[in-house]
Amino acid sequence: MTVPKAHSAATAAQPIEAAAEGQAEALNGLRPARDATLDTARLNLILNDLRLPAIKTLWPDFASRADKEGWPAARFLAALAEHEIAERARRRIARHLDEAHLPLGKTLESFDFDAVPMVSKAQIMALAAGDTWLEQGANVIMFGPPGGGKSHLAAALGMALVENGWRVLFTRTTDLVQKLQIARRNLDLEAAIAKLDKYHLLICDDLAYVTKDQAETSVLFELIGARYERRSLLITANQPFGEWNKVFPDQAMTLAAVDRLVHHATILEMNVESYRRREALERKRGPGRPASRATAKSSP
Ligand code: ADP
Ligand code: MG
Repeated sequence: MTVPKAHSAATAAQPIEAAAEGQAEALNGLRPARDATLDTARLNLILNDLRLPAIKTLWPDFASRADKEGWPAARFLAALAEHEIAERARRRIARHLDEAHLPLGKTLESFDFDAVPMVSKAQIMALAAGDTWLEQGANVIMFGPPGGGKSHLAAALGMALVENGWRVLFTRTTDLVQKLQIARRNLDLEAAIAKLDKYHLLICDDLAYVTKDQAETSVLFELIGARYERRSLLITANQPFGEWNKVFPDQAMTLAAVDRLVHHATILEMNVESYRRREALERKRGPGRPASRATAKSSP
């Protein structure tokens, strides 16, 4: 078996006119079958070089269908090109899903909106499209006690946004703060924050878990300032704004941070009992009840 030169299909190819002539002859059925095989091998090399894997996989089938059904050449070419584009979009989304570090299995489909009656499904679906708010660098803030579904809903929203073509990073706020602190120590904070610009949405899960010594360096404040009106943040927190003092070095900085965050923000109060606890209780009570009727925590 002869191994084709792998470094470049271009070097393996004949001059363009000669090749075109050759192809035309082959199409006319004038060339022996052995040469058609060579053309096929070379075409596959060229498609590799041009990074067109979908066309490479699909063209033999499409070509035989086109021959059988008498497609015009333009239709054949357009069909292949469309598949390449669709495949590229699929790969890009897969890459963005991979880099987003979203927790597994937290989707909008698996989110029980009945359990959080104060959150409107229509509003979340509108946010999932992304367009206006991400373009304006607006924010989303989710408040509520542990187990109320903040992380789930944040991740689900993140996933829907990635599927709609946006770039998202999901991170625990303490992990992010730790990374930014290291960058600051290396005099690299500005670059580290700028690097996060590629994400249209940065999901900072559990803001209130930032520890006191983490709060003392103001990296979170600088991040909020840098993204203000440019790039969006989604923050989840167990504690209301009034208790964010321990997240920032001082009162003035807390106020300034909250001010910037809420200037353009959707605030979701998810004041419900722990979903898991409710599920466990309902399991104990036995079958026959839907597992999702919400009890607002603040109700008497
Ligand atoms: P929080 O971040 O508010 O503490 P989580 O999102 O971690 O809460 O929710 C705790 C668990 O309960 C997770 O496994 C989550 O998937 C599930 N859960 C919470 N709320 C809902 C809901 N409305 N529908 C479906 N699952 C939910
Ligand atoms: Mg959480």
